[in-house]
Amino acid sequence: MVRILYNLLIAALLSKSYALPENYQGTTKEMISNLCIQKDPEMRSQDSYYNLIKYNKFDQPLTWEQSFTKFIKSCFYFSKANAIVPKTIQKNNKIKSKMDHNQKTQVLIIGSGPAGYSAAIYAARANLKPILISGHEPGGQLTITTDVENYPGFANTIQGPWLMEQMRAQVEKVGTQMVTDQVTQVNLKQSPFEVKTEKGHTYHADSIIIATGAQAKWLNIPSETHFRGYGVSGCATCDGFFYKGKVVGVVGGGNTAVEEALFLTNFASKVYLFHRRDQLRAEKMLQKRLLDHPKIEVIWDVAVDEVLGNDNPKDVTGVRLKHTKTGALQEIKLHGLFVAIGHSPTTALFKNQLNMDDEGYLIVKPGTTDTNIPGVFAAGDVADKVYRQAITAAGLGCIAALDAERFLAKFNLAEKR
Ligand SMILES: Cc1cc2nc3c(=O)[nH]c(=O)nc-3n(C[C@H](O)[C@H](O)[C@H](O)COP(=O)(O)OP(=O)(O)OC[C@H]3O[C@@H](n4cnc5c(N)ncnc54)[C@H](O)[C@@H]3O)c2cc1C
Repeated sequence: MVRILYNLLIAALLSKSYALPENYQGTTKEMISNLCIQKDPEMRSQDSYYNLIKYNKFDQPLTWEQSFTKFIKSCFYFSKANAIVPKTIQKNNKIKSKMDHNQKTQVLIIGSGPAGYSAAIYAARANLKPILISGHEPGGQLTITTDVENYPGFANTIQGPWLMEQMRAQVEKVGTQMVTDQVTQVNLKQSPFEVKTEKGHTYHADSIIIATGAQAKWLNIPSETHFRGYGVSGCATCDGFFYKGKVVGVVGGGNTAVEEALFLTNFASKVYLFHRRDQLRAEKMLQKRLLDHPKIEVIWDVAVDEVLGNDNPKDVTGVRLKHTKTGALQEIKLHGLFVAIGHSPTTALFKNQLNMDDEGYLIVKPGTTDTNIPGVFAAGDVADKVYRQAITAAGLGCIAALDAERFLAKFNLAEKR
């Protein structure tokens, strides 16, 4: 009874002070979490009052005194637009924040894409108390796309940003310490490893999982950015399915572009390949398959000058091409444009410390996520130039956490559980 009254009071108080969506259907606990995030996104990444509330076992039966104390604390917190955090908590947070400037952990995860989040879930559930540094793109590459249809577990099409939000919530629920910051420097030559961040914090870690991903290279013309996710894509495996019976174009001349063009023939009625030279860089076997394919037409010596389309609803209707030798313009009607001019792995931080291939991808021991430095693991697109999918990145993140756990156990670095 006390609990019901308590929940009702909190709900009334919260809905008065903060805007919730009209169709909100979560529990009180979720509502508090959501409102905390709404109020201050930064708070969710700290071991703050938000986490105290979130993980303070709202789902367990409370005694009358506990309910009353929590209610008073919550009143303090939610009664003003600028939360008044109880003094004891403020004090704890100050101590914590001082500690944050120099923290030690068993597992430090760099990156918050599917690889980093999966690694965090496994490491946290192995009681390794991981810290995850999210970087400038919390949620990673999937946050810049719209429809996702190939991540298992969802019969209906889901949105990339929503999927990553779910992963983040799961990561926090299992107890990962999330930090909104960017790693600027790593020293892998000392043990424990040292990691410095943009906000001036230093972390010492017995093991590190690198999940900094990769960035698709884009043409960098405004119309491409405008239609990205609405007809312009960087991934045929991800989005080809949406172009059944339609006309598409692929930009590029290397293996990836040729493979993407061939893959797209499974769906599209016609596939153009636009290449800025008069010869492809792709392997000869692939070139032969491309040139022999009845659905594919290569347009040589052209660069995409502009992506053409509508705004209501937003969709692509064609491209304007510019001849690289004569400058002549030409328009081609199509429904989708796939930019396949390469990827850049985010590995500059690790230069001269970790082994990389000539394109900058981290090299791992086959079948593992082990880099050349014991205790440093790499997962996801940062070490995978072949598959580059959310599910493969997530799988590799899981492997990295298991590899880290074994490493810590082997060298007796895991704290007593
Ligand atoms: C437009 C687009 C659409 C896609 N659609 C699909 C799809 O439908 N299905 C699918 O399976 N895949 C899709 N992909 C591919 C998929 O998004 C990637 O394979 C996947 O996100 C890779 O995950 P990751 O964790 O390795 O890295 P990423 O998702 O790239 O995440 C890297 C993370 O590292 C962080 N980071 C980088 N540098 C630092 C630093 N110095 N300090 C701290 N953090 C750092 C970033 O902030 C980011 O959070 C798509 C990709 C793109 C670009």
